[in-house]
Amino acid sequence: MGIGVLRKYEEFLPLTEATPVLSLGEGDTPLVKSNRLGRELGCDDLYFKLEGCNPTGSFKDRGMVVAIAKALEHNSRAVMCASTGNTSASAAAYGAYCDLPTYVLIPKGEVAMGKLAQAMAYGAQIIMIDGNFDAALALAREFTSKHEVTLVNSVNPHRLEGQKTAAFEIVDDLGDAPDYLFIPVGNAGNITAYWRGFREYQQAGRATQLPRMMGFQAAGAAPIVSGSPVANPQTIASAIRIGNPAGWQGALEARDDSGGVIDMVSDDEILEAYRLLASHEGIFCEPASAAAFAGLVKMRQGGLDLSGQRIVCIATGNGLKDPDLAVSSVVAKTTEIEPTIEAVEAVALAMIR
Ligand SMILES: *Cc1c(COP(=O)(O)O)cnc(C)c1O
Repeated sequence: MGIGVLRKYEEFLPLTEATPVLSLGEGDTPLVKSNRLGRELGCDDLYFKLEGCNPTGSFKDRGMVVAIAKALEHNSRAVMCASTGNTSASAAAYGAYCDLPTYVLIPKGEVAMGKLAQAMAYGAQIIMIDGNFDAALALAREFTSKHEVTLVNSVNPHRLEGQKTAAFEIVDDLGDAPDYLFIPVGNAGNITAYWRGFREYQQAGRATQLPRMMGFQAAGAAPIVSGSPVANPQTIASAIRIGNPAGWQGALEARDDSGGVIDMVSDDEILEAYRLLASHEGIFCEPASAAAFAGLVKMRQGGLDLSGQRIVCIATGNGLKDPDLAVSSVVAKTTEIEPTIEAVEAVALAMIR
């Protein structure tokens, strides 16, 4: 039975006697060893952490469970978030579980259908903004500063506290921290949270080393790489389509303190990684998630020597959230036939001959 991150890592979380311990079964996600892509890249110790296996299909659940528990502890009457989709799906699910009204501000026309469907099904009040994520977040911040509604974006410190548990799990599974951690960067909360998690675990004596933090933005939404906010961020990877990350400073610290990099990958590189992960490893993740592996490929091509290095790529969200993209960007092996055994044989045997 999944006990959830609150119970499993309570000693590392900001819980009090009054914090309700709740769970939708978040955390404890699989760390899967690469079978094909690692070998092709000359790196025989490569793992993928499947955060799409969380209850609403992304890592956001780890932080949301803490943010919602603290909101309940403080008698909050409602919660609000701005979202590119996954935060709203997660907030809506935990809000439903806890009978807490949930308001989600989303950029109109920019949220993948699966994520919107989730927020609808969980019963959140959806507020569409004629503007981008950064505008939605500014509005959510202003509203929650004026009214007694809790903001559950990653600027809520409890979110990062919950998200750092993914780093704990990696160390628990591998016996130590990896040499490199590859991770997509959008609002930059997650890279900040992982870095905090690795450091806290090392301080607690559970890990002897720290990974280099390798964060990747999409080329059309790469403010940290360029050094200034992007007014009109563009990328196919909607979960990282963010022009002015709230976690900017945390990402720079993670990079500099760990000896890592924050770099960018193009949409073509993201899509190629997205297809490879699914077709060569059985990992169907979101395009934003694929930015991590695309980053690994880019570093490898740039000459980074990966032999003997232990590497973890974070697959942040589930590919089913954006089925339209899969259908439109993958050349599917599909044929239509008459319902006869001969016709089936003609197709199927041709493939293995
Ligand atoms: C939120 C999200 C990201 C980006 O995480 P940040 O904390 O905003 O940097 C990446 N991938 C997926 C699937 C996400 O939902």
